[in-house]
Amino acid sequence: MINKLLIANRGEIALRILRAARELEIPTVAAYSEADKDLMHVKMADESICIGPADSAQSYLNIPAIISAMELSGADGVHPGYGFLSENPDFAEKIEKSGFDFVGPPASVIKMMGNKISAKEFALKAGLPIVPGSTGPIDEEPHKKAEELGYPIIIKAAAGGGGRGMRIVHSKDELEDAIELTQQESSIAFGDSTVYMEKFLKNPRHIEIQVLADRHGNFLHLGDRDCSLQRRHQKVIEEAPAIGIKDEKRQEIYDQCIEACKQMNYVSAGTFEFLYENDNFYFIEMNTRIQVEHPVTESVTGLDLVKLQLRIARDEELKVKQEDVVLDGHAIECRINAEHPETFIPSPGKIVEYHAPGGIGVRMDSHLYKDYVVPPHYDSLIAKVICRANDREDARARLLRALDEMYILGIDTNLEMHRKLVTDPNFIKGGVSINYLENLNKEDSKDVE
Ligand code: ADP
Repeated sequence: MINKLLIANRGEIALRILRAARELEIPTVAAYSEADKDLMHVKMADESICIGPADSAQSYLNIPAIISAMELSGADGVHPGYGFLSENPDFAEKIEKSGFDFVGPPASVIKMMGNKISAKEFALKAGLPIVPGSTGPIDEEPHKKAEELGYPIIIKAAAGGGGRGMRIVHSKDELEDAIELTQQESSIAFGDSTVYMEKFLKNPRHIEIQVLADRHGNFLHLGDRDCSLQRRHQKVIEEAPAIGIKDEKRQEIYDQCIEACKQMNYVSAGTFEFLYENDNFYFIEMNTRIQVEHPVTESVTGLDLVKLQLRIARDEELKVKQEDVVLDGHAIECRINAEHPETFIPSPGKIVEYHAPGGIGVRMDSHLYKDYVVPPHYDSLIAKVICRANDREDARARLLRALDEMYILGIDTNLEMHRKLVTDPNFIKGGVSINYLENLNKEDSKDVE
């Protein structure tokens, strides 16, 4: 039972969580860093408590500070949002041990899925299709394994995340160096040098399945999303549903995800991520948390995922059954970042003018307001605009209209890039691969030269 919720995150997701809690009449406590006292949700929360300096290692990642904030404020539940401590099994375990409620799955599940090798081993056992490769750490004979798979291959850090800790290898002369470099990088970035090997899929799409489970043995899937538009392995535009997948194929992967959830006793919202190529799905990882792109699923299902997460954490049984989940229409989301449009360097600073788009089918998830100063310390995501319509083309036209209506002045943003992408002929057609945006950017920089 959560009687008071601590929000252990910042920015748009913190506001999103606050809104869901408020609809459930759960009092909120905003845990914020010294750089974040002016955040919208900090002003709106019933209570707020500073958990440390701007540096996230000392605040949003500081487990003792967050637990103290819960004790001091009397909060008995915590929503970690995404990023920060959301997939940290030690955090979830400490919360569980303190007798508080963690909004998410059990620590043991987070731990298993947090390591890409154990996640892949589980996926294989549970019957999910996986990317061909080593299902354990690279052993003494990496050359043999790589030859078996056939180049190109990708070396991945078992503890990697956020698009980091990956290296593509095109030929056998590059293999040993690539393994060593990825090991070193991973050891510095994630404190674990274990790496493994996968076949590198040349032109896949990134398709993921949203699941939801309560503590009473009810498991649901909420359809799929296509998140293939990526820059440096980070998603830029997402949509639901993914187009051009045969119904039987779709149903098969949904069933497999539900089966996997049952086998691990999954609880809360989660996402199975797949690469999809030539009509086949290949599991790459599972995110055991709410994701940035969850609103597109909300837009086509009409379900409030964060509210459902909170209800689940309060031990309620899901009222919605699989047959009630109807995917209606199409939704697309653009991630708006405070960054230089060409160099992609973050562009913090003061918002001197701000106008959010509105009207039918438009949702803007953002913590921005006029005169707010975007601090330099955190991720540059400042807004998400999500448009829903009865079909993809109408959703796209609506999104373009919303992007044109919006203005964020005083800092650089990637709004212009979104306008270009949303009118790109191949995006209009749909179904582009994960390489599409990088290739487009390369062509653009050629034009500049
Ligand atoms: P992270 O946890 O860092 O997000 P993922 O394993 O989810 O890492 O991979 C992120 C992205 O990297 C994928 O969406 C895809 O673009 C690319 N990628 C990962 N594995 C492969 C692979 N085997 N072949 C091709 N691309 C891959």
